[in-house]
Amino acid sequence: MTTPDSKETKYGLLIDYEFCTNCHTCEVACKKTHDLPIGQYGIKTLEYGPVKNLTGKWEWTYLPLPTDLCDLCADRVAEGRLPNCVHHCQAGVMYYGMVEELAAKAAEKPKMVLFTK
Ligand code: SF4
Ligand code: SF4
Repeated sequence: MTTPDSKETKYGLLIDYEFCTNCHTCEVACKKTHDLPIGQYGIKTLEYGPVKNLTGKWEWTYLPLPTDLCDLCADRVAEGRLPNCVHHCQAGVMYYGMVEELAAKAAEKPKMVLFTK
C-alpha cells in the first residue's frame, strides 16, 4: 500500500478480537465512510459459537474481518486521521499503524489478528 510518509512502509489493522463485543459499530462506520450500499462491507464481524469444544471449554468468539473493499481509510489517514473503524470501535480493540509495530503489539497477548493490504 502507498502510505502517507513512505512507499516502503506497510500499514495495517490490528484487532484484539478477544474483547470484540460484536457491536457492529466498525461495520457501520466503514459503510458510512465509503458510502457502501446494502450488502457491501469493508469490514464484517463473523461469529463462532457458542460451542463446547473437545476440551469441554465453551467458545463464543467474534472476529471482525476486513474485506477486499477495505483501503485502510487511505483518504482519512492522508489527512492525519485514524481509520473510521478504529476511531469508532466501542471496545477500543482496533489499532492502526505500521505493520512492524502492530506485530510487536500482537505478540503481547493471544487472540490478536493483523490485517495488511
Ligand atoms: S480501515 Fe477504513 S476501509 Fe478498512 S475496515 Fe476500517 S473503516 Fe473500513
Ligand atoms: S466496533 Fe470494535 S467491538 Fe464493535 S464489532 Fe467492531 S471490533 Fe468489535
